[in-house]
Amino acid sequence: MPKMVFAVEALMVAVLAGAQTPAPAQAPAPPPTLVKVRDDVAVIQNVNHVVAEIGQNGGNATVVVTNEGVILIDTKNDRMHDDLMAKVKSLTNQPIKYAVLTHNHADHSGGAAKLQAEGTTIVASVGTRENMLRANQPGAPQVAYSGYSEIALGGKVVQLRELRGHTRGDTVVLIPSARVAVAGDLVTTPDTIPTIVNYGDGGSWTDLGRALDEVATLDFDTLIAGHGPALSRAEFLKYRDRIAAIRERARALNRERKTQDEITRTLLEEFNWGTGPGAGNVAGMLQELR
Ligand SMILES: [Zn+2]
Repeated sequence: MPKMVFAVEALMVAVLAGAQTPAPAQAPAPPPTLVKVRDDVAVIQNVNHVVAEIGQNGGNATVVVTNEGVILIDTKNDRMHDDLMAKVKSLTNQPIKYAVLTHNHADHSGGAAKLQAEGTTIVASVGTRENMLRANQPGAPQVAYSGYSEIALGGKVVQLRELRGHTRGDTVVLIPSARVAVAGDLVTTPDTIPTIVNYGDGGSWTDLGRALDEVATLDFDTLIAGHGPALSRAEFLKYRDRIAAIRERARALNRERKTQDEITRTLLEEFNWGTGPGAGNVAGMLQELR
């Protein structure tokens, strides 16, 4: 078993750190399922909410249906394209007009190239577009924005806000008519898929805290995470406070000159934070949080 554990952890690190989605390292996970959040909003999400599913199925994808077309938020990975199209088709015959990428990581953006080839316009922040171009990732956005933007389609409007943290270019989408927010990997649950930042892609724990504070000011009842089930507003606020507590505990321990190992262990004991890719995030945290 130790070998298997290592393989899964290596996969976790690769996936959550944003590497190109690796091939599944073990027995196939069940296919993702379509969960309706509102009449016109649904999420394609994994069944068991474990890291091993992410390599195969990618992260959450949100479908916003209008009578003039679909706005998709995140595209899962390349190999889930046919499954994604079938699930959208089960909701509407309208084409996917726009796909917004919350960030560059392949479990969210890997389906972009195939969608683009079928006529979907890919939209993301300039930071995400730059991250994708730098990595030679296929499906780079045709439309990129900075700060704030809106997409209007079929009488509905979705708001895009660039709130860096997980990367330098995270987008949080608000669908005011449905009172739903979509946060990408600024929010991941449960504890087995720990929230991390990707320093190589320009993320930081400081920006992550600011981003979550700003999300808290938005008007929503339901928040769709990058991984894991949707959260109520109260659950999101608890999550925001927990992330701030982890950050400040790491900073305090760092100032007490605890070793990286001690800090890793303490965060795991006190917050159940830091399995898999979490552990790989600690060295960067100690550089940042002094
Ligand atoms: Zn990510």
